[in-house]
Amino acid sequence: MTAIEVRGLTKSYGGREVLSGVDLDVDTGDVAIILGPSGSGKSTLLRCINHLEQPDAGYVRVNGDLIGYRESGRRGGDTLLRELHPRDVARQRRNIGMVFQQFNLFPHFTVLGNLTEGPLATGVPRDAAVVRARELLARVGLSGREDSYPSQLSGGQQQRVAIARTLAMSPEVVLFDEPTSALDPELVGEVLAVIRDLAESGLTLVVVTHEIGFARDIADVVFFIDGGHVLESGRPEQIFADARHNRTREFLAAVR
Ligand code: ADP
Ligand code: MG
Repeated sequence: MTAIEVRGLTKSYGGREVLSGVDLDVDTGDVAIILGPSGSGKSTLLRCINHLEQPDAGYVRVNGDLIGYRESGRRGGDTLLRELHPRDVARQRRNIGMVFQQFNLFPHFTVLGNLTEGPLATGVPRDAAVVRARELLARVGLSGREDSYPSQLSGGQQQRVAIARTLAMSPEVVLFDEPTSALDPELVGEVLAVIRDLAESGLTLVVVTHEIGFARDIADVVFFIDGGHVLESGRPEQIFADARHNRTREFLAAVR
């Protein structure tokens, strides 16, 4: 089954196109790795998949739900955006978790508060939210840190809390945008280990990363994005050993 289907995704900022007709498919339970140079449109792509941006053209489906799209209208031949009801947007966004480079934890909430805030807001009873939060903290190796504040944790710990917080919403798909890029090198491994565990658990993941060894280990499919296009995609053993495009090979040689 296809978890994520992106077709013809196009997005401009101030007249400059940063995504130009991106097509991408991720099967349910697969791990997709997105590689590409800075400024190539990777974050914008994830933001379109997660409803944080509206595409100018094309569409995104996540588990069949239309996330953002334009369809041809009649007004002078213009393209009209079909707006989704905010309630539908909120429902869909709950199925899509996102983990950011900068963790984005709520600084004035404890770890437990960070994990329970979302579920409580969607009507989960407090007892159940707390039980689930404790399970997730154990899963990311942070049992006992319930009452800490984010500022009392290392970057690696904060990112593991951020991952647990995302999982607390029981998403069907989790998007990671350079989850280890803000971390000191010695803290990268603990975060990658958690992502690896999620990959093995069968969640559908899309991971933007420059950690090539990690990418090679966990990817089911790799997309190389350059200048707003998917320049090539394929199985990791093919892309890493025998990329078709020079541009991909140069990039891989530079980040290795
Ligand atoms: P990547 O994640 O691959 O580094 P981004 O998707 O963040 O690339 O950005 C692609 C291009 O779009 C960059 O040139 C960036 O400056 C530009 N961009 C991204 N977001 C915005 C925005 N909100 N407004 C204007 N330009 C943006
Ligand atoms: Mg980015």
